[in-house]
Amino acid sequence: MTKVAGSDCVHFLLNALQKRGYTCIGPTIRDAAIVYDEIRSEQDLPIGYTDEQDGGTYRLKKRSDQARFGYTVGPQSWKQYLFPPSTLLMTARRTSDGFEAASPIDNVRPHAFIGVRPCDLNAIAIQDRTFLKGTYIDRTYQKRREAAFIVVVNCGQAGRTCFCVSMESGPMARSGYDLALTEILESGRHEFLVETGSERGEEVAAELPFRSATEEDGHAAQRMVDRAVHQMGRTMDTSGIKELLYRNMEHPRWDNVAARCLSCANCTMVCPTCFCSSVEEVTDLTDDHTERWRRWDSCFTADHSYIHGGSVRPTTLSRYRQWMTHKLATWIDQFQTSGCVGCGRCITWCPVAIDITEEVRVIRETDGAKRH
Ligand code: SF4
Ligand code: SF4
Repeated sequence: MTKVAGSDCVHFLLNALQKRGYTCIGPTIRDAAIVYDEIRSEQDLPIGYTDEQDGGTYRLKKRSDQARFGYTVGPQSWKQYLFPPSTLLMTARRTSDGFEAASPIDNVRPHAFIGVRPCDLNAIAIQDRTFLKGTYIDRTYQKRREAAFIVVVNCGQAGRTCFCVSMESGPMARSGYDLALTEILESGRHEFLVETGSERGEEVAAELPFRSATEEDGHAAQRMVDRAVHQMGRTMDTSGIKELLYRNMEHPRWDNVAARCLSCANCTMVCPTCFCSSVEEVTDLTDDHTERWRRWDSCFTADHSYIHGGSVRPTTLSRYRQWMTHKLATWIDQFQTSGCVGCGRCITWCPVAIDITEEVRVIRETDGAKRH
């Protein structure tokens, strides 16, 4: 079902979803950035704002229109709701007979994610594979994932660090959503094309006061997405990338990037597909109660690669190389897909503007196979 809604589309959508018991999470402005938080009304959206991004640069600016989704992506992704930074896995309490252990069943409320970008929808699919499609199912992730209603917003503009076209993950969503919106902004027109992708999406859309879409509405939405394709700030040639990186593990470029990299782990924290975590035990002062927590970790921390006797990645070179080759090469062997969706966050939020697309370009241009 394809419909057209006015510029106040999100107002009706929020009412319909809240009536069904969903807590609606969407973009809002905090600390001069667009972040995700609970949105109770359309006025919580970053109406009339856009973002300017480049290597190590992020700025919010006013737009000349009232666009609801006139930005690209901020520092946060939906990972924080599906795979939270801290998760309580287990508790144990001392009793007269010993210890009583419990696995807290997460009380997950239904969430509606409003404004998921196509690259981030692909990132969710990649994390689904990691947490749900291997030998072990991650129950915490599974509960949160099943409780999520997904409203994608196709991109009508792209940023200078975006390269989703190269990674075939955007700027238009093909499947995996409940509803997909395209915000049409042209020649004084401000409307939304609304497409349904699931039964529950159909149910929600059916009760909203939207009109049926015409062929021209579809063309207008396509023009918006085409505009984003042409604005895409970066590209990455992914042909034979796995083999390229495998045969260049000793490339001199790794020394060059190591000299700039601060090992700060920002790139892994902002990446929507990174899933490293560590587990820690916390015991209270009485020794009667203990908790086991899972927390986000990063391949850039020394502890994360510690095995008996020492760290297997003691240098910055080995950590950056591990991160980049995992994203673009070993991930393919592990999960049959790339670990990168081209969202550009690791470029924008790197304090020294290290750029994964540039590192690949240099290694490709000076490929060991060509050098010998
Ligand atoms: S590696 Fe960088 S561009 Fe790719 S998905 Fe992660 S943050 Fe986005
Ligand atoms: S590449 Fe940039 S963001 Fe990542 S660890 Fe190095 S300095 Fe930090």
